[in-house]
Amino acid sequence: MTKEELMRKAIELSTENVANGGGPFGAVIARNGEIIATGTNRVTASCDPTAHAEVSTIRAAAAKLGTFDLSGCEIYTSCEPCPMCLGAIYWARLDKMYYGNNKTDAKNIGFDDSFIYDEIALKPADRKLPSEILLHNEAIKAFEAWTKKDDKIAY
Ligand SMILES: [Zn+2]
Repeated sequence: MTKEELMRKAIELSTENVANGGGPFGAVIARNGEIIATGTNRVTASCDPTAHAEVSTIRAAAAKLGTFDLSGCEIYTSCEPCPMCLGAIYWARLDKMYYGNNKTDAKNIGFDDSFIYDEIALKPADRKLPSEILLHNEAIKAFEAWTKKDDKIAY
């Protein structure tokens, strides 16, 4: 399939999802023009705030290929991703991202994620989310165990 055909599939999923009780977002992960996995936004249907189309599609593609590393694959998403999904796309090591709608289009229909992008740029103490370091000397023990482990799978 061409990149336009793959994006049309993502767009089609986003449109269908509106009729199926989800948000207007769809995504496709493909490798060499072949669809590996598709996904839609299922936040309200699944009671899962992380069930954005991109995250759902990454989970499905990784499960199908049996790997956490999606190098060699590309993602086609009907909308420019939120910070969580953008992070997931980096973690999944996808080669390239194509998006249909942009952040402004999403903001215009009530899906404004700019506040998260703004928060990320701030120091933790300056964010709206109260946060504080707690039990650091106990938490660091897991990191020490990880450092000493010889047979770990680096990722
Ligand atoms: Zn997202």
